[in-house]
Amino acid sequence: QDEYRTEGSLKLEDIFIAVKTTKRFHQNRMELLLDTWISRASEQTYVFTDEEDEALKRRMGDHVVFTNCSAEHSHLALSCKMAAEFDAFLASSQSWFCHLDDDNYLNPQALLQLLSTYSAAWDVYLGKPSLNRPIRASETLPNNKTKSVHFWFATGGAGFCISRKLASKMVPWASGRNFLSTSELIRLPDDCTMGYIIECKVGGQLLSNSLFHSHLENLQLIPSTQLTQQVTLSYGVFENKLNVIELSGPFSPQEDPSSRFRSLHCHLYPDTSWCLQPLRW
Ligand code: UDP
Ligand code: MN
Repeated sequence: QDEYRTEGSLKLEDIFIAVKTTKRFHQNRMELLLDTWISRASEQTYVFTDEEDEALKRRMGDHVVFTNCSAEHSHLALSCKMAAEFDAFLASSQSWFCHLDDDNYLNPQALLQLLSTYSAAWDVYLGKPSLNRPIRASETLPNNKTKSVHFWFATGGAGFCISRKLASKMVPWASGRNFLSTSELIRLPDDCTMGYIIECKVGGQLLSNSLFHSHLENLQLIPSTQLTQQVTLSYGVFENKLNVIELSGPFSPQEDPSSRFRSLHCHLYPDTSWCLQPLRW
């Protein structure tokens, strides 16, 4: 059947979704995601964490991957998890790799619609640029020399996707232990390393897409009526204030305070058992 697959027939099953998390976020952040969007994409979502957790295992079965990466916010610990995500995708037979942080809401249907406009047989790297210009870095060369490089990268906190074709070209720098050594060459975080491999090594380029969002941007600026069309959203704290999407209900800001993800989920899937009905914007 696959031979006859044409453009536009992409299915959710063709997408490998990797979520990066850590022990201390299993309860609050992960429970929220499992109750909301992951429940609508559970077959293709895998969670990568650093410590065994029976509760998480009970909810996710073999979709939770306990990496041996350390539970630190260091470049190497984070790159170790990204490497595990990428290797799991390479071992899968899916055609798209999408990475998310555990403070992202993913709209699987919006993602599917977006990816359907591309082909996984092309080199595709989609996401939200972290900066409004290429980042400059210094690459360490074998003879103790350095080389100045510049490249665009998709911010990991907004989620990003890579086509199978592009991923297969990245293997020499991104698979197994290679990801960590590449990351060490430029001494930058995992999402930058992805951009570096794609733009400086493989010759691909980031396609900037405005449907991906991290908490580094002002999330209140997204009009409420457009929230259900976004591919990813996030939440966080910025300058001591909560940076969160603005939507009126169905839950009050007291019931669904820090992320508004439960309210958003009810707008997308009003048939969810715990959603309060009827819904109005
Ligand atoms: N994270 C991790 N190990 C850590 C800290 C964070 O794997 O020690 C993950 C976390 O679960 C999340 C991502 O890294 O998916 C970004 O973390 P966070 O949102 O706390 O920080 P940010 O970089 O967005 O400020
Ligand atoms: Mn974050």
